[in-house]
Amino acid sequence: MSEKERIFLAREEALSAILTDLRQYRPQKRLFMNLCADVFGRDTLVVDDHRREGLWMSSSRSRSMRYVSTTDLGERLCRGIEHARPSSESLANLCGRVFDTAAFSGGKNGNGTRKPGVWLETGMETFACRQCGRCCRRLDYRRELSFEDYAVWKRLGRTDILERVKVYRRNGRMTAFGIWLEPGTDRFSDHCPWLRELPEKDRWICGIHEVKPEICRHYPGSRKHGKMTGCPGFGESPLRTD
Ligand code: SF4
Repeated sequence: MSEKERIFLAREEALSAILTDLRQYRPQKRLFMNLCADVFGRDTLVVDDHRREGLWMSSSRSRSMRYVSTTDLGERLCRGIEHARPSSESLANLCGRVFDTAAFSGGKNGNGTRKPGVWLETGMETFACRQCGRCCRRLDYRRELSFEDYAVWKRLGRTDILERVKVYRRNGRMTAFGIWLEPGTDRFSDHCPWLRELPEKDRWICGIHEVKPEICRHYPGSRKHGKMTGCPGFGESPLRTD
C-alpha cells in the first residue's frame, strides 16, 4: 500500500484530525448520533427529530430528553473527545468511524524513537480525477499557501505567480499568505485564475500544474474529504456521513 493510500497520524494529530472533521463540514447528523454512545456513555439515548434539523437526547445522569441542534451536538462531541483523552485503541476506533475507513492503532519509527498513533487507509486507491474543475472553482484555499510553496516560486523567479500572492507580515517577518490577488490590486479573485478549459471537452486543467500549491497537489487526500467537498473522483461512493 502506498503512502497516499495509508497515512500515519501521531496521537495528537489523530485527535486534531477528528476534531477538525467534526467541525469543518456541514453538520454530519448520522455520524454525530452514532458517536454519542462512545463519547457520552452507553446509556445515552439519542432520537432523531425528523421534523427539525436537530435531535433529542438524554444524558447518562438524567432520563429526560432535551432537544439539541446538530451543530451543538457536534461541538459537545468535540469537547467530550478532548476531555476523555482516548486510549490509542479508542482513538483508532474513533478515526475509523469518523473517516469511514480502516484504522489501526500502532506506531512509527523515527529519530531512534517510536511514536504511538493511528494508521489510516485514505481510500485514495479508488480516486481518479475527472478534471471537472469543481475543487478549483468552489473550494476556499485562500489562506492555505505554505512557506515551501512560496519559496519554490521565489527560487524559480515565478513573478507571474508571486504578483498574485498577498504576504502578511508581523514585525517585518512573513507570517502567512493569501491567494489569489487580482494583479496590481488588493482584491482577491473570485476563483482560481490558473484554471484553463480544454476546448470542447468540458474538462479543466491547471495552468501552473508543475508548480501548483501543495494544498492543490494533495486534494482530496481522502475519500471522506472528497465526498464532503463534492469531488466526483471516487465515483458512486457508498459513504453515508449525514
Ligand atoms: S473536484 Fe475532484 S474530480 Fe473534479 S477536478 Fe477536483 S479533484 Fe478532480
